[in-house]
Amino acid sequence: MNSEMVNVAEIFGENVFNDTVMQERLPKKVYHNLKKTIEEGKELDLETADVIAHEMKEWAIEKGATHYTHWFQPLTGVTAEKHDSFISAPLPSGKVLMSFSGKELIKGEPDASSFPSGGLRATFEARGYTAWDCTSPAFVRKDAAGATLCIPTAFCSYKGEALDLKTPLLRSMEAVGAQSLRLLRLFGNTTSKKVTPSVGPEQEYFLVDAKTFQQRKDLIYTGRTLFGAMPPKGQELDDHYFGTIRQRVAGFMKDVNEELWKVGVTAKTQHNETAPAQHELAPIYAPANIAVDHNQLIMQTLKRVASQHGMKCLLHEKPFAGVNGSGKHNNWSLITDDGINMLEPGTTPHENTQFLLILTCILKAVNRHADLLRESAADPGNDHRLGANEAPPAIVSVFLGDQLEDVIDQLVSTGEATHSLNGGKLMTGVKTLPDLAKDATDRNRTSPFAFTGNKFEFRMVGSRDSVAGPNVVLNTIVAEAFSEACEVLEQADDFDLAVHDLIKEYATENQKVIFNGDGYSEEWVKEAQRRGLPNLKSMVEAIPAMTSEKAVTLFEKFNVYTKAELESRAEIQYETYSKAINIEARTMIDMASKQVIPAVIKYTKTLADTVNAVKAAGVDATVQMQILVDVSNLLKEAKAALEKLIEVTETAAGTKGFVEQANYYYYEVGASMQGLRAPVDALEMIVDKEAWPMPSYGDLIFEL
Ligand code: ADP
Ligand code: MG
Repeated sequence: MNSEMVNVAEIFGENVFNDTVMQERLPKKVYHNLKKTIEEGKELDLETADVIAHEMKEWAIEKGATHYTHWFQPLTGVTAEKHDSFISAPLPSGKVLMSFSGKELIKGEPDASSFPSGGLRATFEARGYTAWDCTSPAFVRKDAAGATLCIPTAFCSYKGEALDLKTPLLRSMEAVGAQSLRLLRLFGNTTSKKVTPSVGPEQEYFLVDAKTFQQRKDLIYTGRTLFGAMPPKGQELDDHYFGTIRQRVAGFMKDVNEELWKVGVTAKTQHNETAPAQHELAPIYAPANIAVDHNQLIMQTLKRVASQHGMKCLLHEKPFAGVNGSGKHNNWSLITDDGINMLEPGTTPHENTQFLLILTCILKAVNRHADLLRESAADPGNDHRLGANEAPPAIVSVFLGDQLEDVIDQLVSTGEATHSLNGGKLMTGVKTLPDLAKDATDRNRTSPFAFTGNKFEFRMVGSRDSVAGPNVVLNTIVAEAFSEACEVLEQADDFDLAVHDLIKEYATENQKVIFNGDGYSEEWVKEAQRRGLPNLKSMVEAIPAMTSEKAVTLFEKFNVYTKAELESRAEIQYETYSKAINIEARTMIDMASKQVIPAVIKYTKTLADTVNAVKAAGVDATVQMQILVDVSNLLKEAKAALEKLIEVTETAAGTKGFVEQANYYYYEVGASMQGLRAPVDALEMIVDKEAWPMPSYGDLIFEL
């Protein structure tokens, strides 16, 4: 473990081909051309690309790089890379040169056939292209493979269909950027040139000891525990949240931060989370595509550094049943190139017409496309988290806080907002502490979509998932709402009157999506149903939203997805779900047949021997006998449940049609997995700890 002091300012971005490096190394004209491409989306010519590639290579070699890779994000949810070394064909002298051309920088051509495409690209048309996303800087990553120049890229098929998460994200950023600018112009802004959706994703994760992890096949194969009884102590004491960070974890966090800083990721906050062994890391927000790239780097770094520290980082949304799950809070706002945050309400939001229009447009977008937002957070692991303990429910609602909810109430009831509630001062009552200016808006930890001062926080996203998908949806649905508002306002004779009417209309029509209360309560589920809000509890119920007519119209209008791309993505989602549950079911079968049942049989033998010995000594053996009976009954139950699970898993694998198959996995296999887990967990509670074949929840989460 490295414990020497570091100078953050010195190491920050040291392995990034960032603006400073480019200014230093690139000829003025080349630098200028590249900036134009980055800022205005102009196409990069090959001549410029050649110069950049050469300088990038020289710089990377100075950092020790031997290889480069087009780092991309196929529809697997994780990043992919194919490494090429810089060496050219040997010269007559037998030596090699290190080369890297503009063509190689701009465009790569990995074999696309083994990445999911949902039928978009037949395997015989294996050609896929990766194209440099020059708005996300290249960086040199150092790990066991040595140093590699990583070039963030988009990934498309031969026909230009998006095969990755980044292409639609970039398209959606353009869409919402253009519509935002259009809206700003209507309010008299003539100076801003560009609007960028900005994202700060907070990453939650668990840490467990690597040796304990290795003894759990479920964690190894599926990332979550498939069996496990609750320990006597859970999170009821709330003593972990923001608790002092233990030394072993602190050492890990220090190394994670340093690694991230070097590659230009602004790791900023870290703290213990609610559950034992749970932690969080948040970077400073950045343009959405960079935030997405950085979040991938954060996840990879957490895993790699954890291994170096003899630990395992669990990114699964629900590694332990009954214990808090992990999510990713996607903080989102719209920021202009001259630094205006369009979501900033000011101190008197009721007078801020532009803000009220933006706010009500977002309400409209969320209300209309709640199903798409829900779908964007769908992932097999998140099914166990959404709606479960201490997690946002599967119902999408918006939390505005007292101040804004009051403004909306005024608008809806009288058509006019005349005042804004004030936060006032929070008296600490201690002379030496300052009185804090109180926020006009309190926090609500239970809302899936919360306004937090000058940004929205979408909290449904799962901890393992890429934040690309959720931001594609957010950007596009808001682009649509802005565009519809602009269409009305651009035609209006009296702008002020028209804005006023529009705000009132949007507020009234979409008020039903606002909910400031306890999102985890049973009453809310009933209330939401009364309001007609969708409650899509599972991934298989959420996927159809992607291909609805409403979704196709939306995404095609803003050139974010074609119908074919949406259909292919839905197909991949179904397949991903089926594969995930299949692996889980097979892992359960394996663990139950090879570990749990044999261990319990052995234990019954010990118990039976004990009963006989006690009886032989002429002593009453009723208690021992009772335990033997209980264990034997549960064993019988477990065995029957195991057989049932084997049967339905086989049927599932043979089910035709990806929709039918995914549904069979969800309803039938899911229920049978529960059916097996129940008796096994009950057995864990009675069987001698020494005899139990795997570490318990207690061993896993209270060990570090
Ligand atoms: P919280 O109160 O939720 O802990 P923080 O201020 O710590 O909020 O921010 C959480 C995340 O939100 C960080 O990643 C932060 O950079 C990001 N964030 C802050 N302001 C914005 C903004 N205007 N747009 C997008 N993300 C933001
Ligand atoms: Mg937060």
